[in-house]
Amino acid sequence: MKYVPGKVEKKWRDDWRERYLFKTKSKPKRKFYNLVMFAYPSGDIHMGTGRNYVIGDVYARYKMRRGYDVLHPFGWDAFGLPAENRAIEVGVHPEKWTIENIRISDESLKLLGISYDWDREIITCMPDYYKWTQWMFLLLYKRGLAYKKEAYVNWCPDCNTVLANEQVSEGKCYRCDAFVEKRKLNQWFFKITAYAERLLNDLDKLTGWTDNVKLIQRNWIGRSEGCDIIFTVVDTNIELNVFTTRPDTIYGVTFMSIAPEHPLVDEIIHGSENESKVRAYIKEATKKSDIERIEKEKDGVFTGCYAVNPLNNEKVPIFVADYVLLEYGSGVVMGVPAHDERDFQFARTYDLPIRVVIKPPDTTLEPAKMEHAYEDPGIMVNSGEFTDMPSEKGSEAVTQFLAGKKRGGPTVKNRLKDWLISRQRYWGAPIPMIYCDACGMVPVPEQDLPVLLPKDIKDFVPKGKSPLAAAASFINTTCPTCGAAAKRDADTMDTFVCSSWYFLRYLDPHNNEEFCSKKNADIWLPIDQYIGGSSEHATGHLIYFRFFTKVLYDAGYISVDEPTTNLFNLGMVLKDGQKMSKSKGNLVRISDFVKKHSADAARLTIIFAAPPEREMEWSDDGVVGAERLINRIYRLFVDNIDAVVHEKPKTIPKEDENVYIKTNQIIAKVTTDLESFKFNTAIAALWELLNELYACPTKGPVFGYGMHALMQLLAPFAPYLADELWSLAGGTGSLVEQDWITYDKEYLQDTVKTIVIQINGKVRSHLAMTGAVTEEKTKELALQDEKIKRHLQNKQIKKIIYVPEKILNIVV
Ligand SMILES: [Zn+2]
Ligand SMILES: [Zn+2]
Repeated sequence: MKYVPGKVEKKWRDDWRERYLFKTKSKPKRKFYNLVMFAYPSGDIHMGTGRNYVIGDVYARYKMRRGYDVLHPFGWDAFGLPAENRAIEVGVHPEKWTIENIRISDESLKLLGISYDWDREIITCMPDYYKWTQWMFLLLYKRGLAYKKEAYVNWCPDCNTVLANEQVSEGKCYRCDAFVEKRKLNQWFFKITAYAERLLNDLDKLTGWTDNVKLIQRNWIGRSEGCDIIFTVVDTNIELNVFTTRPDTIYGVTFMSIAPEHPLVDEIIHGSENESKVRAYIKEATKKSDIERIEKEKDGVFTGCYAVNPLNNEKVPIFVADYVLLEYGSGVVMGVPAHDERDFQFARTYDLPIRVVIKPPDTTLEPAKMEHAYEDPGIMVNSGEFTDMPSEKGSEAVTQFLAGKKRGGPTVKNRLKDWLISRQRYWGAPIPMIYCDACGMVPVPEQDLPVLLPKDIKDFVPKGKSPLAAAASFINTTCPTCGAAAKRDADTMDTFVCSSWYFLRYLDPHNNEEFCSKKNADIWLPIDQYIGGSSEHATGHLIYFRFFTKVLYDAGYISVDEPTTNLFNLGMVLKDGQKMSKSKGNLVRISDFVKKHSADAARLTIIFAAPPEREMEWSDDGVVGAERLINRIYRLFVDNIDAVVHEKPKTIPKEDENVYIKTNQIIAKVTTDLESFKFNTAIAALWELLNELYACPTKGPVFGYGMHALMQLLAPFAPYLADELWSLAGGTGSLVEQDWITYDKEYLQDTVKTIVIQINGKVRSHLAMTGAVTEEKTKELALQDEKIKRHLQNKQIKKIIYVPEKILNIVV
């Protein structure tokens, strides 16, 4: 009887659906929230993303069988640029394109047999979801964590929108790789910096995250301790705040450099004779990417103005220089050429004085002869009352002195910047803000949410501002406070806002009154296991969703201040050495693959190819092994179905002892492998058990129980075949409803059987064998034995006599 997977899989898929097998219990006894990162609907799902869902499903099915009430939901991160760009290209509405992709992908996930509770599916572009994204915005606004300001921001010229710092990598747009420019715009920010300290400290609570992801976050938040020093611009009240980690070099300052985007530049240069020259320089500088600015030769332009050093009251020239970035420190640098290499190069270019104020312990420095800055600590010289102090002590003394004079003092800076969330694009959640001439900025009242995204937009092409700005029916409204004519915010929110709280909506997806009831949040939080790609999310989503969790915790809506302590990082899927993705055109569609082979074969191919945390190189040949495993298991069962027994054998006959031990060892191995996501080695163990059973000399209860164990262990990985075997062997329902199989602790140690190998009746070697000892296996091993091989050289084997489990005699 041949295995016909298509028919079998359909039967079980229908059975699981009809019996609501994966419906979440509303009152779980032992909850387990198993969450795989939701997906962007850019087309049908393929093996690249499908791997995540298969791995998440294996884990969920295993937990169900360990007595947990599992919540295993899925949803779609459905706003964003690809849908909109597609709309511009081919004229289909982004919503139509998105919903169609979701429909196709849902079907593929169902084909694969992923155990989602589909009643909880969420789609972020639907009003019943983005209503609550807007509500979150208002919550942050009420708590002083959302603000609007005019600032230079990252602008992607290709995507025609601004980007958050987290979306710029090495000066390039995370989506399209275009070099990012700077533009001055009035934009909404979330004040994530207010949580920098907690985001950093609480990394210690995340015991189930890898050190690597935590380190990336630590570096991204980038705490550094230092000193603020306030310089004054000559003949003005303008104060320039400098952040430095080397206050001991303050007497060596011979110039100041200020970032072109610094908000005080305008005021400083206003009316100065160099004003037009400086403005031209700034215009050029803002077109460059950060990386270009840092890597090129340092240049700048003199403003014609001077600043006063608060320690020695010296006047030093102020330059605007684009190697200074507003994002780092304070956007103002005190130029200490003798002790900072960048400043050294700059001083040489502009012929500025180089003054040594730190002396190496064993020698002296002469500015004219220096080829590089001396950046190490040393002894302070030429430093007034601080002279002769060692750097470290001097730094503290200078900091205290400045604090005493109210010209600065100790401070901590984080590299993390506030999160820019406005986007000048159509396909996103509208920002719920109204601008009234009389009342100013007025938040949309909660009862008026959602602010619906208008559907009757024809032209999605962004022209430097949101397409919504031109939609009269949307943009014109009335002021909620005074009733006068007013305008809505034309921008939409960064899609990373939608994904910062999605894990909460699953807990209560149909609630019309709240984003999630406190009761449900208390039942299900925190996420017990979060699964997903993480290297690319470490400085984005994984920081944002921690931030949102803390805000909601502070506001009393939830009782946990970290979303999850367990994060499993999945590796990427490559094909022909490249990441599997639509743009590379190297996709293997799940639905095609399942139709050609089977869902179980697809699952086993994915799982067996590589450890889940590692990159996996997709090969179509992988399916050959998977199908062989499926067919061999099926054949074993069809041929021996009457032998299957579901209870542990009461007595273990001597001749079956090794098979029984092997069975227990493999139950133990697969169980620990499942706990620790070592799914590929679990499959290898199933092969081993299968071979053991094929070689089993008897077909008694030990053999029958081994078959029972095999299908039990197979179930999380290949659930269709396992349920089919279960039913053939007289089981009812699905294996997912059965308790996980346990092993016999007494039978985990191998018993070793020694077989004597003779040639013509003379003892020539011994074999130490474990597992099932069969004539075939003994012969095979004997003929591979080095000693036997030596004795058999140039000899013809006439016959082989086998005394079960004792002697093998080779007659030559
Ligand atoms: Zn871009
Ligand atoms: Zn008003």
